[in-house]
Amino acid sequence: MVRTLTVLGCDGSWPGPGGAGSGYLVQVGDTSILLDAGPGTFAALQTRADPANVAAVVVTHAHPDHWTDLESFATWAGYGPGRARFRDPGGRALTVFAPPGLRDWSHFASADWVDWRELAPSMVLAIGPVQARFGATDHGTPTLAVHLEHEGSALAYSADSGPGWSVEELGSDIGTFLCEATYTEQWEGSLLHLSGREAGVMAAAAGVGRLILTHRWPTVAADEVRREAEIAFGRPVEQASPGAVFDW
Ligand SMILES: [Zn+2]
Repeated sequence: MVRTLTVLGCDGSWPGPGGAGSGYLVQVGDTSILLDAGPGTFAALQTRADPANVAAVVVTHAHPDHWTDLESFATWAGYGPGRARFRDPGGRALTVFAPPGLRDWSHFASADWVDWRELAPSMVLAIGPVQARFGATDHGTPTLAVHLEHEGSALAYSADSGPGWSVEELGSDIGTFLCEATYTEQWEGSLLHLSGREAGVMAAAAGVGRLILTHRWPTVAADEVRREAEIAFGRPVEQASPGAVFDW
């Protein structure tokens, strides 16, 4: 069965010119999962897949760059082409997993075509053939890293985190690690985010198979983040870019 991770948007904190916030389409066979829904990602999603086939949206935390296009998705599902699938008789509501409190920010908190499920770090979910687990990160606001497993292959996503969390908490079986690296070493300690160096150190300690960097500020040079991550990781590092597809 084919397992892919498609980058819909990967800009950190705000979308840069022509860019999009955090959002990733995970596909395993016929099952599609939307991991985060930052600004601009619903437009990108429609170029890659039929949103009507999304089994679930998983939102890692309430910062706007990770979820505000859920509002676009819910609008499309309630009033647009998605209505037949998600709202009309015989449809199924749009399933959204999100940490406590996020629902209250949404215009669609009470919409009967959105099936809100509150996420807790201890939860284990089955989304189609994919097993999902979570871990609380070091990010101030409640934030959950995500571990997806299918037939022995594991993909982990850091969401946002400072250096007080490690992906090791999600296990030692991680083949592909999508990790935030918001900036370079010079900003370390200024915010609850990671530098390229910190992402590389963490990934090396956790023994992940492959490191993919994401959530870089649009004002920070991609090459500099990657260079320091590669030195710390000890191996080549990949970087997320809009439209990039990774097998996992
Ligand atoms: Zn955040």
